[in-house]
Amino acid sequence: MRLITIFCVLAGYIFADAHIFLYHRFSDGRYPSTNTPKSVLRAQFEFLKDNNYTVVPLKSIVEKLNQNETLPEKWVALTIDDGYKSFLNALPIFEEFGYPFTMFVYVEAAEKKYPDYLSWEELKKLENHNGTLAFHSYSHGHQTRQSAEELKADFEKGLELYEKRLGSKSAFYSYPYGEFDDEVKNIAEEFGFSAILNQNIGTVSDTSSVYDLNRFALTGDANIKPLLKYKSLETEWIEPQSYPKNGNITKVEARINANTTKVKLYITDLGWRDVTVEDGVISYDMNEKLKKPRVRVIIQTGDKISTKILVKD
Ligand SMILES: [Zn+2]
Repeated sequence: MRLITIFCVLAGYIFADAHIFLYHRFSDGRYPSTNTPKSVLRAQFEFLKDNNYTVVPLKSIVEKLNQNETLPEKWVALTIDDGYKSFLNALPIFEEFGYPFTMFVYVEAAEKKYPDYLSWEELKKLENHNGTLAFHSYSHGHQTRQSAEELKADFEKGLELYEKRLGSKSAFYSYPYGEFDDEVKNIAEEFGFSAILNQNIGTVSDTSSVYDLNRFALTGDANIKPLLKYKSLETEWIEPQSYPKNGNITKVEARINANTTKVKLYITDLGWRDVTVEDGVISYDMNEKLKKPRVRVIIQTGDKISTKILVKD
């Protein structure tokens, strides 16, 4: 009994998960669905600090995974997508806490000087403030709808400009809107990034792929405390593999690594339901119409969670 207790304590320690958070805009009330007020950001940072979380550069997590090393407890990485000018509202708070961040750049917006976006000069300066810059596509399109040729051309054009304007290569990539399928993922991988980030609800565990890192998107007055409790549910998604052609979801099948007979299953706009698990396999028949072109299928048991994204192409 004592041995089991010791093992459980050790396992809890050994299998620590890292959490990556994603922000977009800061104290920009025009776009509430992607905005984080400064007061909320400060409260989130205070929570991280008071609870002894270590905010590390994204690179540190990627290095641990590449070296097959255990992720230390309580690691958090902070990322921002798109390169909005409103990040300048948040930068003093990042600096005050000494927190590193990675800014994913929408290249066309910087290149064409769209008014709401940081200029190339402003982006470059972020590197002097604990910031890492990274690539977030040229045109910020819905990539699952683009042909392979269009997609490759977007990467080539975007990366060429990115390197020319910023003077360095991008180590990381994040999908616009978090949308991808196998084809988009395979093409992105060809461009030699050391990590690729999605927007799936979930954590990073020792078994995570560097080409499929989960991020929690934070907006409004998001409370990070419950999110930091989540751990990865190791899942092999069997069905559906992609957005169903007729829009009807008829089955969810997955193999999970958890000792349980019941999980919660969530599908965007179709809500939560209890689903049984037999010998680690969920095989749930249904017949319902998906309502949105971008749908998340989530399996949760206790604080373990796994997400599969389905995007209409
Ligand atoms: Zn974006």
